[in-house]
Amino acid sequence: MSLLSTNNISVQLTAPVVRTVKKGHPWIFDKGIHKQNKPGTPGDLAILYDQKRNFVGIGLFDPLSPIKIRVLHRGKPATLDTEWLKSKIQQIFYVRKELINDPMTTGYRLVSGENDGMPGLVVDRYSDTLVFKLDTVAWMPHLDQLKSVFCSLLEPERIVLRISRTVATAPTCPDHLKKASVIFGPPLDGPVIFLENGLKFEAEPIIGQKTGFFLDQRDNRVRVGELSRGKNVLNVFSYTGGFSLYAASNAAKSVTSLDLSQPAIDASVRNFTLNLHNPNIAKTQHLLLCDDAFDAMRKLANERKKYDVVILDPPSFAKKQADIPEALIAYGRLVKLGLKVLKKGGVLVSASCSARVPAETFFNTVIRTAEAVKSPLQVLEKTTHAVDHPIGFLEGAYLKCIFAKT
Ligand code: SAH
Repeated sequence: MSLLSTNNISVQLTAPVVRTVKKGHPWIFDKGIHKQNKPGTPGDLAILYDQKRNFVGIGLFDPLSPIKIRVLHRGKPATLDTEWLKSKIQQIFYVRKELINDPMTTGYRLVSGENDGMPGLVVDRYSDTLVFKLDTVAWMPHLDQLKSVFCSLLEPERIVLRISRTVATAPTCPDHLKKASVIFGPPLDGPVIFLENGLKFEAEPIIGQKTGFFLDQRDNRVRVGELSRGKNVLNVFSYTGGFSLYAASNAAKSVTSLDLSQPAIDASVRNFTLNLHNPNIAKTQHLLLCDDAFDAMRKLANERKKYDVVILDPPSFAKKQADIPEALIAYGRLVKLGLKVLKKGGVLVSASCSARVPAETFFNTVIRTAEAVKSPLQVLEKTTHAVDHPIGFLEGAYLKCIFAKT
């Protein structure tokens, strides 16, 4: 039985798009469609051909999105049935087998959308709760099949469905999809507790940012931990205290969590409380600053406060191409402020999650800003994506982080 669609539409692509699809690009916009045999509805399978009627691939059709087709399969003709879906998910799990088998880490990204060949679908795991996050309503008609494959492979207690903000705020989005909901298992009446490298964290899959936690910083948090023994650490844009907990568990003297959001600061306090059985965490002084990062760092600099490690992990500054120059200025301002509160010989950790800012441009901004304020940096490490956040295509790369000594 063909699983993924009751309806197929037949789509002829323009020659340039045939080439990009064959090279592995997952998105097809309106202008890439030469003709189609019928208007189609969200979730139809689009059978893709070149203009000589040769088969090119199969994609998920979404007439409501600027990305009209997301490519699921390319190469030889295939039937996208339950077995196909299951084997695709198993391949994706294989890449993460060490994480999946690690009892000390139960929160990670199981499926990373286009980067794993499953465009428009992110699946995160927080202990026994899975969160499906859809970037397109085209997955909706296939939700039961997705549920059954994930249930058969992982036996989760619960599955939460979230729709990305861009889809939820579009006038075409059906009302019942605008809010996150539990689509399998018991209702969720509080946060879910999961482990990251043995540390306990809470995540709010329904109301939290992203799918409840920033899972992408796991490896950078380990590095921060290694730098923190006996140190005073400032964690700017701390959210629920991810970096702070790693610093504390590695016996930092003090950790200051700084974030504009009071609920995020409160969650960081709860996360410390969850880990008080760890003697290092119990001993570390956890200081809280609920303030704007720029204002607070200015105040700290005026008070002549100095830290051994300063972490800057802001939200994305460039949501569109036109934002890039402003974003680079903002990164520069942050670095200047960060350096003002960093001790000589201390370590600056500066991250960017703006997909539109290329890694080298970001790294150069950090390095040049430091030179301009006569605080040149010795680069210790530049990092990108962890194993559960692979980079499958150019637009899929977003995270970069530099560790540097003054
Ligand atoms: N470092 C975090 C993730 C940061 S997400 C982690 O490892 O989990 C970005 C955070 O920046 C959010 O918590 C948001 O509340 C905060 N934020 C956004 N604008 C801010 C501002 N101007 N000043 C301080 N915090 C801000």
